[in-house]
Amino acid sequence: ESQLNPSYSFENFLEGDSNRLARNAGIAVANKPGGTSFNPLLIFGGVGLGKTHLAHAIGVDIKDKYPEKTVLYISAEKFTQQYIDSVKKNNRNDFIHFYQIIDVLIIDDVQFLSGKTGTQDVFFHIFNHLHQNGKQVILTSDKAPVDMQDIEQRLLSRFKWGLSAELQTPDFETRVSILKNKLYRDGVEMPEEIVDYVAKHIKSNVRELEGAIISLIAQSSFNKKEITINLAKDIVEKFVKNTKREVSIDYIQKVVSDYFQMDVNTLQSKTRKRHIVQARQLAMFFAKKYTKASLASIGSQIGQRDHATVLHACKTVDNLSSTDKQFRKYVEDLSKKLAL
Ligand code: ADP
Ligand code: MG
Repeated sequence: ESQLNPSYSFENFLEGDSNRLARNAGIAVANKPGGTSFNPLLIFGGVGLGKTHLAHAIGVDIKDKYPEKTVLYISAEKFTQQYIDSVKKNNRNDFIHFYQIIDVLIIDDVQFLSGKTGTQDVFFHIFNHLHQNGKQVILTSDKAPVDMQDIEQRLLSRFKWGLSAELQTPDFETRVSILKNKLYRDGVEMPEEIVDYVAKHIKSNVRELEGAIISLIAQSSFNKKEITINLAKDIVEKFVKNTKREVSIDYIQKVVSDYFQMDVNTLQSKTRKRHIVQARQLAMFFAKKYTKASLASIGSQIGQRDHATVLHACKTVDNLSSTDKQFRKYVEDLSKKLAL
């Protein structure tokens, strides 16, 4: 079982300036797996920019051209889970062997391995074995190798051996073509000005872009609503708001600073003034609670602190909210403001 999703093809992955390098490198790898200098091929970029799609597309295309090759797609999270299970069941060697005989190994979201030294260690050995035997490795990550945290140096240096290709946010033209392709595939027609409106207002995430157009399609086909600019406005607004709240550490810092009537720079500053320290700790606590970011990444985004500081902040907030009534009120108020 390759775990590949055939609908994530190259054909459906529209090309633009933002992804040309990564897409073409992917095509080169698919034509000659293990036979290019793009080994490993590491695709990196922000949330919803097409990393998973592109990783699948490479695998799907290889399977098409080389049916005899074993191709495996797996998320780093699942890989980690499998490894932990293998240790528990005392068959770590079987786990390693299983991965060492694969021809094309695709691991999605390798940033998940940060801080997981056991899994990094086993992956290091698997990687070396595959690479030495001319097998292809494809990785995705939310950051470039230079920006990865809590990943062992020897693994990072391996990540840099091949090509690191970035998926950037697509420009307006590309966003329009992605939307039109989606509409075309669904057999739906939509006025040009609506498509332009959506593409103009949703800039930083292709998943949101698609989500908005899917909502519009649903409104028109199930609720029989006429698709007007006003409806598009409503939907775009909801989309941008909801997803921002869900993911952004910036948003959390903004809400916490506003609540304590300070600006974000103050919250991030090095000062030890008690109320500022508390605001900062609350921001870290909510970032841990409401985002998927690692402790290290939260720390670096909230005033360049390390992961131990964030961990300490989370514990402090837990303690204070059970002992200090005023503090508990802060937590409750902020939870309400941040809740979806
Ligand atoms: P990531 O893994 O980077 O978070 P995904 O690969 O899950 O992002 O992509 C999010 C959505 O956007 C998917 O539905 C994907 O098909 C779509 N998408 C991203 N980039 C493109 C593109 N260039 N052309 C068409 N669809 C795209
Ligand atoms: Mg993904």
